[in-house]
Amino acid sequence: MPQTMTSADLRIHNQARLLRAVHDAAEPFTRAEAARLLGIGRNTAAALVGELEQARLLHEVPAESGARGRPTTMLVPHPEGPLAFAVDFREDTWTLASVELGGAITELEDGEHDRTPKAFADIRAAVARHETGRLAVLGFATSGPIRDGHRLHISHLGWDEVEVRDLIGDGWPATVIDNDARLAGLAEARRGALRGLGTAMHFHIDFDIGGTLLLGGDAQRGAHHIAGEFGHMPLTGSALECMCGVRGCWSLDVGANALVRRFGGETGYGTGRELAQEVLRRAEAGDAEAGEAVDANAAALGRGLGALANALDPEAISLSGLGVDLIRLRRGLIEENCAASLMAFRRDEPPRIAAGTMGEAGPLTGAAEIAWDAILTPVWLRERL
Ligand SMILES: [Zn+2]
Repeated sequence: MPQTMTSADLRIHNQARLLRAVHDAAEPFTRAEAARLLGIGRNTAAALVGELEQARLLHEVPAESGARGRPTTMLVPHPEGPLAFAVDFREDTWTLASVELGGAITELEDGEHDRTPKAFADIRAAVARHETGRLAVLGFATSGPIRDGHRLHISHLGWDEVEVRDLIGDGWPATVIDNDARLAGLAEARRGALRGLGTAMHFHIDFDIGGTLLLGGDAQRGAHHIAGEFGHMPLTGSALECMCGVRGCWSLDVGANALVRRFGGETGYGTGRELAQEVLRRAEAGDAEAGEAVDANAAALGRGLGALANALDPEAISLSGLGVDLIRLRRGLIEENCAASLMAFRRDEPPRIAAGTMGEAGPLTGAAEIAWDAILTPVWLRERL
């Protein structure tokens, strides 16, 4: 049976849209601009802002003078309003930050960990140290895929199907969790190089390559929450067998593992980062052997990107991690190989390939975004107002 929307529902719906607009905006905007943005009258906008101010969700501050006409006010997060916490959990370290509506991040604490699931207890203790009545939700970025949203695999740490619900128990604040490569892409789509694009892709290159398809500013997750393992598609035809059980994975040719393998290092256990950085430095200094290894990495990256562009038709592709170095050192080679993999009719309009702008902050920023996504809803607002 179709549900009818009451005027109270409509008001909550518009309040959620207004908070979303404030959160997503690159710059603060005025109440009049909010009315235009939402397609509502100025009086309605004034009433919505008043209610949100009273609920300590929004705050109006005088705008910088200099504009013509009447003095106006800008809409900003309420100084006593709710906060999201965000965690970036990596293979050897973690970072905890607090994030306001609008995305401003304040780093609270970071630490190293012992590579066992006990790290989650350390992070929970850090959250408790900083927790105030303002904490509304926690967003968590972790390396490794999380099947069905709760079965975590971090192969480099030997975590095979660790139950997230055992790690994040009853004592935790409301928590949302996702994979770091996907969250880095989400951050680029919301606040970085891919902002405002309808269809885009992001790839994070570390030991291997992971990524995400971004549609209308959100990341594609798949039926079991494990979409985006582009590194485990045989895009470049390697004859090697991958640790994932597939032969010929793209990750065997792109990323730090591929650089390390060429110079006799052990691959697949999250070690050898220094050796990979050394290879990049030597290539940059003109060393022929290191240069060849970086050439091969960049060429394989470009070939894979072209193949994926044939399937998914992104407007732009951003890269983070080692991808930023590869763009800096070998942009021409990446674009040339991408073009060679593109179907001929696409070659006059190849996808734009760019370094991401979020850098190291990508997963943390993405974790903050899923945290705010979880609460900027009419259901949450109804409880709050
Ligand atoms: Zn694989």
